[in-house]
Amino acid sequence: MKIAFVSFEVYPLAKVGGLADVAGSLPKALKKKNIDVSIFMPYHKIVEENIKKFGLEVKKVIDDFDLGIGTDQKASIYKTNLPGTDIPIYLVSNDYYFSSKDVYGSPDGGQQAIFFTKAVIDSIKKLNIHFDVIHSNDWQTGLLPVYLKTIYREDSYFSDISTVYTIHNLGYQGVFDRSYMDFAKLPDYVYNMDGIEFYGKINFMKGGILFSDIVNTVSPTYAEEIKTPEYGEKLEGVLQLRKDVLYGVLNGIDYVENDPETDKRIPYNYNPKSLEGKRKNKDALQKEVGLEVKRGTPIIGLISRLFDQKGLDLVDDIMKYVVASCDVNFVLLGTGEPKYENAFLELAKEFPKKVAVKIGFDVNLAQRIYAASDFFLMPSKYEPCGLGQMYSLRYGTIPIVRYTGGLADTVTEFDGKSGNGFGFKNYDSSYLLKAILKALYYYKRDDFMSVLIKNAMNTDLSWERSASEYVKLYELSKTR
Ligand code: ADP
Repeated sequence: MKIAFVSFEVYPLAKVGGLADVAGSLPKALKKKNIDVSIFMPYHKIVEENIKKFGLEVKKVIDDFDLGIGTDQKASIYKTNLPGTDIPIYLVSNDYYFSSKDVYGSPDGGQQAIFFTKAVIDSIKKLNIHFDVIHSNDWQTGLLPVYLKTIYREDSYFSDISTVYTIHNLGYQGVFDRSYMDFAKLPDYVYNMDGIEFYGKINFMKGGILFSDIVNTVSPTYAEEIKTPEYGEKLEGVLQLRKDVLYGVLNGIDYVENDPETDKRIPYNYNPKSLEGKRKNKDALQKEVGLEVKRGTPIIGLISRLFDQKGLDLVDDIMKYVVASCDVNFVLLGTGEPKYENAFLELAKEFPKKVAVKIGFDVNLAQRIYAASDFFLMPSKYEPCGLGQMYSLRYGTIPIVRYTGGLADTVTEFDGKSGNGFGFKNYDSSYLLKAILKALYYYKRDDFMSVLIKNAMNTDLSWERSASEYVKLYELSKTR
């Protein structure tokens, strides 16, 4: 089977969020299952820099061509490989749309996304590659199946191609002014309630949901939740309409890159059978962030974008009480809304021996925190899949989560024997507090903790499992 995987971000060439991790890992796992994958992504400025950094070869495969949309800008296509693999990456190049230093820095995100989407479809035909499935991702590529089902409907080149569309976060839908219909040169008949119209504007993600053969999101629980008004972000009706083709496939994590036994980003390596390295990482982290070095004091880590989605108001509500009344350290790494940055910096000021707060984005420090902490806090309001809890589990750090979305699918309540973490359901800080106190109670019992850590480290979070499920979705899309 031949798959075109279309994404705005692909790790390690361009990463902003979790989408990049998926786009960089899933194709590799699919390849192991004998699926022939090609990736399509924009030739962002940062991609150019990373191609140099990785010493990758790159060549132009299609010269400038017109897209027949509302711009004279032309696209050209370059080809390179996903680093360390022979998976081809086709890069859509255009200096005007992809010259920003940031992946999403274009002054006109709507035009940029349309330009990319249309260029991908046209280049597939020009390259004369006969894909079985086009797999597009998130709002930026939501219009791809809309094009295929409208202006390319009569084009026999595409008649055997089916489409799969993955929602990585329903919170970002790509909603733009009606004028983008003219720019995209889509037929007027799709601009209605049953099409891509959305409260007088156009909604790219709605297009992906309605026009793809198969739709999925990144965890089974989130796939259920988004059909309700609480989580549906005004698209719950549309998602219900498509419930027969809506699936949830949990993301995996890269087991090679994230292996406590070999990870070079952490000072001491360890494995489930020998955890001394983890304890030494704890000493090292306490020292590094200026806390008292004390093995008996549990560390609760938190690494996150500091936004409302992540449930930080709950943390803010109760953390002062927790650190004031319990023998515990709290180490936070994140950036985001000033209200959260300031609140946590204040807390660190008040409890300098117990709380360390680092404002910034630092992947190496993040790894040291995952490895050194005893617990990891992730009480998200909603969480499509979540990576933080998965890295924690892999590093034997016990997640304390709100059971929502992917958190509910990866973390199970510890009962003394089975289970790999702690959690709560009601979005209310008193329930978070209870979960933390329960975790701290178990922390005092070495016998329970060693079972818990083993359970955590043995949780299957591999891409292996997810890749098999994607193969099933690809096969299913051919029957629609
Ligand atoms: P989201 O994609 O919604 O931000 P995820 O849990 O899916 O949440 O992924 C977040 C990823 O970004 C994790 O790998 C986490 O370790 C990382 N991360 C978040 N904030 C920071 C930070 N300040 N420094 C380093 N890594 C971070």
